[in-house]
Amino acid sequence: MLPAVDLFEYQGKQFFKGYGMPVSDGEVAFSVDDAVAAAERLGTPVMVKAQVHTGGRGKAGGVKFAASVDDVQTHASNILGLDINGHIVRRLWIEKASDISEEYYASFTLDRSAKKHLGMLSAEGGVDIETVAARDPEAIARIHIDPVDGLTQPVCRQWVQAARIAGSAAEAVAEVLVTLYGAYVDADADLVEVNPLIVTSGGDVVLLDSKVTLDANSTFRHDDYATYDATQTRDEREQAAHAKRLQYVGLDGSVGVIANGAGLAMSTVDVVNQVGGQPANFLDIGGGANAEVMAGALEVINNDPAVRAILINIFGGITRGEEIANGIIEATRRVDIDSPIVIRLDGTNAAEGRALLEPHLSGELMMEPTMLDAARRAVELAGAGGQEQP
Ligand code: GDP
Ligand code: MG
Repeated sequence: MLPAVDLFEYQGKQFFKGYGMPVSDGEVAFSVDDAVAAAERLGTPVMVKAQVHTGGRGKAGGVKFAASVDDVQTHASNILGLDINGHIVRRLWIEKASDISEEYYASFTLDRSAKKHLGMLSAEGGVDIETVAARDPEAIARIHIDPVDGLTQPVCRQWVQAARIAGSAAEAVAEVLVTLYGAYVDADADLVEVNPLIVTSGGDVVLLDSKVTLDANSTFRHDDYATYDATQTRDEREQAAHAKRLQYVGLDGSVGVIANGAGLAMSTVDVVNQVGGQPANFLDIGGGANAEVMAGALEVINNDPAVRAILINIFGGITRGEEIANGIIEATRRVDIDSPIVIRLDGTNAAEGRALLEPHLSGELMMEPTMLDAARRAVELAGAGGQEQP
């Protein structure tokens, strides 16, 4: 399991453009001077738009209309450095302003429970879709799309009608949606969302905003993923883990989690929650839990100041218990660990592995027979470390 790759709005628009969908011309800017130069090239009026991996930029003051180059200067200096939901704005997208007549909402995502793709469309775009859903659920037309059949023109036309999108642009909207669905499937995206999808006063359909999330597990067949991934803003812990090629996702709790295999790592996070604790992270060290990998994992977890206890949950499969035990012993020698470690070791040659660990056990290195016991112990220790329990 790899984390998802989120695209900035402008990257999403370049992605749409690559599939032939209509977006406005624009340029990326990293400074006020860049922004002004871009606006001079594009010609005013333009929109000055914060590029951050979060929504609701408009409400936060991160999307401004600029009638003149002077306006661009003002807005760019106000928006650069702005904190939007904890994301600091470091880049802007300057694009030619559109004259909006209608604002719609459109998205495609995977509905895992239905085992089909889910399309959502509404004539009430431009605002939070959650707000629309709460106020008038009927205003959102949902369709499930069979992954084999795909989205056909006739079905799409009906869908557009169901979303109360009428008038001369309806046909063009349906066409864009068929292309958007094709792009979503072709690129192995987890989500494509356009809010707003607009009709201009001149009757043109334009994708005015973009939210695109790609499935990182598909990186091997998409060379362009790497360039998007490089621009993702991860927290420092995730960057450090990423550099060590560890599958790590930062969470907010105090119990550091190390497990082998994504499934076991997820279960471990769940069990920590179940016994009343808060996991500090998800970390899958993969199949070969050798000393090097284990030391790297412990280092990353140890550098997280919120961690009060560490839970190592290993189920030996191809990797034998002795190798894992030696890996842990060697790793604790290499890394100076600040928090107590609780180990659960099971699977192939678990008895041999436990026997190796036995002489090293102390108040700082403990072993428990089951995953549940180990989680309880780790949560207890994290609590005893002075961490507030919510
Ligand atoms: P979000 O707030 O993060 O979803 O950012 P959006 O890109 O969706 O922009 C917020 C709002 O700004 C949109 O819903 C539009 O109403 C408005 N907006 C964005 N681009 C333009 C434009 O080119 N012209 C006009 N008139 N309004 C725009
Ligand atoms: Mg939007």
